[in-house]
Amino acid sequence: MNYFSLNDKSQNSNFENAVLKGLAPDRGLYFPQEINKLPPSFFENFKSKSKYEIAFEVIKGYVGDEIPEAELKQIIDTTLDFEFPVVELTEDTSVLELFHGPTLAFKDVGARFMAGCLGYFIKRDNLGKITVLVATSGDTGGAVANGFFDVEGIEVVILYPKGKVSLIQEKQLTTLGRNITALEVDGVFDDCQEMVKLAFLDEEIQEKRRLTSANSINVARWLPQMFYYFLAYQQLMEKDEKLVFSVPSGNFGNICAGLLAREMGLPIDHFIAANNVNNVVERFLQTEKFEPRSSIQTLSNAMDVGNPSNFVRILELFQNKFGNLQEVLSGYSFDDTATSEAIAEMFKKTGYVMDPHGAVGYLGLKSFLKENNGFHGTFLETAHPVKFLDTVEAAIQEKIEIPAVIRSQMKEEKKSFEIKTYEELKAYLLS
Ligand SMILES: *Cc1c(COP(=O)(O)O)cnc(C)c1O
Repeated sequence: MNYFSLNDKSQNSNFENAVLKGLAPDRGLYFPQEINKLPPSFFENFKSKSKYEIAFEVIKGYVGDEIPEAELKQIIDTTLDFEFPVVELTEDTSVLELFHGPTLAFKDVGARFMAGCLGYFIKRDNLGKITVLVATSGDTGGAVANGFFDVEGIEVVILYPKGKVSLIQEKQLTTLGRNITALEVDGVFDDCQEMVKLAFLDEEIQEKRRLTSANSINVARWLPQMFYYFLAYQQLMEKDEKLVFSVPSGNFGNICAGLLAREMGLPIDHFIAANNVNNVVERFLQTEKFEPRSSIQTLSNAMDVGNPSNFVRILELFQNKFGNLQEVLSGYSFDDTATSEAIAEMFKKTGYVMDPHGAVGYLGLKSFLKENNGFHGTFLETAHPVKFLDTVEAAIQEKIEIPAVIRSQMKEEKKSFEIKTYEELKAYLLS
């Protein structure tokens, strides 16, 4: 499959190069040249298909012949090696739980799939060592560390802000060792991100190391997120009502993958972009004006994004036709008070415990269902509530149980290097 840059459509790339580079040379995001329509046979006997079969059919066109069938199937097997259950909460509301992966975050799927593809290309093309350099405010780092752990040819360097990630998140970043190095930056997330940007522009580093990033702009992290929607549909297809999905959104990679799945023929009627107070997309849907801003810190901090990078992909999917987009996508936003109240209300009503991100998704769905009849709604739970222990326990006024994987991880010893300046990062990368 060919990909083009959303800045200059004459700039083309194959899948391998798009995965290795992340961004096009003109700094545009890559977008597939064609959207594969699924044949009717894909939906025959859909109920009895395995998640691996479904995922292979969905993704194969976007990889093309660049990874042989057997290898691609192997990558998918490793990627989807856990459950994606839909749990019905009330008559018109279900939740799709995406937190059953190794770091209890939905980002596990994208990180594992990208690691598999990159590992394959390194081996096949003798690319030598590649360094994956990422800045994290929490969940990305853990998923990337876990997904790339022990992949041959890859070294991972993660920058995180000292004292600004939760204890569980820090353990996920710092206890693996081997090919994973955690650098604890004396600063905030923006400082980490700035250092990563400088390193990508630094020729001295480029001469010594081949660097790549692993954020959601990479097609190998973005595209496999389509799997969630197909696997959810398999569990919801007996519903008589139309289906609507509410997606807690930050950089809009996840929801954009859902919209792509719909474009390929998945019968989902409508999508809801659920935001915290960082709501540039909700405002765009009302005013047709896209006005990025600085991000504001909230309880659902993985969605504290002021300039969502995947938004341009959504516009491209709808050929920049505002009316078409408005028919398929609704936006809502909620503040921290509403988020905490929703966690409390849901727990009281059903006993179900939501994390702050899922709670924003639930609120978006609730608002939509109030205004629209004939739908069954599903919101996405993008992280396990235990990752946001303080917020969740304060809201429900009860202790929640810590899963066994986390309990054992909490006993592991933290290994990290502290750095203060870009010069220290550079010295580390050159050493
Ligand atoms: C990353 C993340 C999001 C936002 O996903 P996008 O694809 O960036 O919109 C939502 N919830 C959690 C828990 C996350 O880690």
